[in-house]
Amino acid sequence: MQFQGKLALVTGASRGIGRAIAVDLARQGADVFCTSTKAGGCAETLAAIAALPPGSGRAAALVADVADAADVQRLGDLVTQGVDGIGGRPPDFLVNNAGITRDGLFLRMSEADFDAVLGTNLRGAFLVCKAFARAMAKARNGRIVNVGSVVGLTGNAGQANYAASKAGLVGLSKSLAQELAGRGITVNVVAPGFIQTDMTAALPAEVQAAMQQQIPLGRLGTPEDVAGMVTFLCSDAAAYVTGQTLVVDGGMTR
Ligand code: NAP
Repeated sequence: MQFQGKLALVTGASRGIGRAIAVDLARQGADVFCTSTKAGGCAETLAAIAALPPGSGRAAALVADVADAADVQRLGDLVTQGVDGIGGRPPDFLVNNAGITRDGLFLRMSEADFDAVLGTNLRGAFLVCKAFARAMAKARNGRIVNVGSVVGLTGNAGQANYAASKAGLVGLSKSLAQELAGRGITVNVVAPGFIQTDMTAALPAEVQAAMQQQIPLGRLGTPEDVAGMVTFLCSDAAAYVTGQTLVVDGGMTR
């Protein structure tokens, strides 16, 4: 229960990696705001948090499209005003996890698919950081964790838009890390490899099998594997880590 009294915001916490992050932070005692684009989208996440042992954190759901500046502004207002007895101040832990893919080979990739992926994955993180950074800086406290991808480091055929968005997150995070270090805020990227979620379940079975072959640890990652790294970055043990990209990929990236 190392995070009792702490407040977290996890974007895209309705399922997959975001849900695992929200549950793990709550298990450590933090109160957690969970976001989705849909009303009721975070119901299962909230139920999982409610089922944690006594002393765990509480959770509240908020609806926001991170690609929409007005939505994000409203999100910022709700968190700092408080909802369902949670919040009423800027978060201690800000986790930008919301992300989408619109895969396709570059020669066939439309501007709309490029803009959609950059809009959610990169501009979304920018907007959410913007909504909270000033108040977090004033509080002289905070951890920002941006969920990138190994694809942002290596590139990937068929994912020019996604890889660009995740590489952009690295540049954004390193710059923010430098600007906010003096205010006691660390900013890091967690770059997962191939993790079992709805996002990867959409890939053909042969692609999934081929990817598994490239993983030295011999298995796909779980959302909990990624959540463990986010929890570490929010912990006191990571107080001196900032501007870094931590890869969680079973040894796939060499
Ligand atoms: P997922 O199962 O598809 O979940 C994506 C989450 O993002 C959902 O909660 C979704 O919420 C939310 N979301 C999507 N667009 C949004 C928007 N415009 N505004 C707010 N929320 C939005 O994906 P995942 O696999 O858990 O991935 C989570 C993160 O990890 C993403 O950033 C992804 O790029 C990254 N990642 C995943 C893998 C992997 O192998 N799975 C590998 C590397 C990196 P609603 O649909 O409920 O609105």
